[in-house]
Amino acid sequence: MKGRIHSFDTFGTVDGPGIRFVLFMQGCALQCKYCHNPDSWEMNEGMQMDVEEIMNEIEPYLAYYRSSGGGITVTGGEPTLQAPFLARLFAECKRRWGLHTVLDTNGFCEPSHARELLEVTDLVLLDLKQLNPDRHIELTAQPNDRMKRFAHYLDELGKPFWIRHVLVPGWTDDSSDLIELGKFIGSLDHVSKLEILPYHRMGVYKWRQMGKEYPLELCPTPSDQEVNRAKELIDAGISLR
Ligand code: SF4
Repeated sequence: MKGRIHSFDTFGTVDGPGIRFVLFMQGCALQCKYCHNPDSWEMNEGMQMDVEEIMNEIEPYLAYYRSSGGGITVTGGEPTLQAPFLARLFAECKRRWGLHTVLDTNGFCEPSHARELLEVTDLVLLDLKQLNPDRHIELTAQPNDRMKRFAHYLDELGKPFWIRHVLVPGWTDDSSDLIELGKFIGSLDHVSKLEILPYHRMGVYKWRQMGKEYPLELCPTPSDQEVNRAKELIDAGISLR
């Protein structure tokens, strides 16, 4: 069994605790307007690797992952599209090295499809992009009901998870939407952290390289003040629980 891999980073510091091996999976069913990896969308592209080949890439850096409280993170693209393969990889990382495992997902996944993978996942980073259903479709080309269902499923399992929200001026920073996001987070019992990720333009060159028109050409990056305001609004929503 082989996985479709977009790329990997042996020294990741932003996708979960500590220093991490970050595996970017190929394939995504969303088309976020701000995506910084549009070259990860197509399922049949990328390189094919089996579990052993990936383990060989991880092994030289194990001391860093262990001493920093890190481990392995799978992200994308959307990793749950290859859930059976990743369940094997995580199981082997745990069996051989007791490595900490993180799944970074957009949650566009039927819970039953991810069950086996979640059994060997220590922490989930769930990206909630927009609570407003119509704006979610406009932003990502897909509805958000599955993401909400996935969040409730994680909560029922008692799986620790972080919520991540990309703050995109004009798209995800409306006051009422942020308060709704807070209310939704407040309805969950196992969210251990909230991360607001300011929109950035680092992937714009990829859209150009691929001959695609970048949809957020005029969108600015948010200031620290705007990020703090968003945090306050989400917290206000949480407190309305
Ligand atoms: S879910 Fe992630 S990889 Fe998929 S389109 Fe959105 S930002 Fe890109």
